[in-house]
Amino acid sequence: MKGAVLYGPRDVRFEERETPKIVKPTDAIIRIAAACVCGSDLWPYRGISPVAQPTPMGHEYCGIVEEAGSAVRSVKPGQFVIGSFFSSDNTCPHCQIGYQSSCQQHELVGGAQAPLLRVPLADGTLVATPDIPPDDMIPSLLTLSDVMGTGWFAADAAGVKPGKTVVVVGDGAVGLLGVLSARLMGAGRIIAMGRHEPRQKLAREFGATDIVTERGGEGVSRIKEMTEGIGADSVLECVGTQVSMMQAISSTRPGGHVGYVGVPHGVKLDGGELFFTHVHLHGGPAPVRRYLPELIGLVWNGKINPGKVFDLTLPLEQVAEGYRAMDERRAIKALLRPQ
Ligand SMILES: [Zn+2]
Repeated sequence: MKGAVLYGPRDVRFEERETPKIVKPTDAIIRIAAACVCGSDLWPYRGISPVAQPTPMGHEYCGIVEEAGSAVRSVKPGQFVIGSFFSSDNTCPHCQIGYQSSCQQHELVGGAQAPLLRVPLADGTLVATPDIPPDDMIPSLLTLSDVMGTGWFAADAAGVKPGKTVVVVGDGAVGLLGVLSARLMGAGRIIAMGRHEPRQKLAREFGATDIVTERGGEGVSRIKEMTEGIGADSVLECVGTQVSMMQAISSTRPGGHVGYVGVPHGVKLDGGELFFTHVHLHGGPAPVRRYLPELIGLVWNGKINPGKVFDLTLPLEQVAEGYRAMDERRAIKALLRPQ
């Protein structure tokens, strides 16, 4: 089997890897229908998070169960399934309150940019679709594995409520799907912050009512002007840098909520400054497993089409081009289809 392996900065190779097999009786092997490149894959790709050894890449996946371990009960071979980038037992105290990505047994599911993938704790991690989906639904189902679930968590964590004013910081795929999530949750006004034209178009299609192209302090001033000096009720932070985090916190009204899902890189918060903002902060790796049943239903019934964030589709063997296109911001998100 050939899959994507990251060797170092900007060095992704499509090369022979060991074929995954059942290691524990709770594992399942999935035949990947589609995978993709995540914004968070770009951190190691750019050398910002160092790679100690050649690393199999990819953590967003959906496909058909090829083989299930002897202890697996809830899914069976032949079913189409979607799972989170963190495995979960879905029974421990953290899972029971909906934080499956903090499961006491969680493991990163890695190596999905390949034809086959081993998923640990299959019963608690995977959710089957009602039937085998039509091919054109697969991109939208794939987004539920991470990017849509993460945008949804950002909106949920930011306490988006009907009629409220929402700001989304970041125009990557997560930010765009954060816009879609805020619309579904009934937000009155959705201000998307981003400066790239094609992304603004998609943000509007997903439900953004306003676009702000300024960033940092200027961006915050624009948000204050637009909200009569008050700030937004809910702000979704979908980048993970110092500038974006402070932009999010400073755009929030006293008593408002920030949902932050951009993996922080070099973010440092000053306790004193934070103290006087009066904002709620809630974020982390999205518990996408919690949202899978509901979001599968929304895609299955044609209510949402989050797969629109994929503006580049490549055969899996061209995975390196997917990384390049996203790194150079030529693509919002690259979909990879095994042949
Ligand atoms: Zn758990």
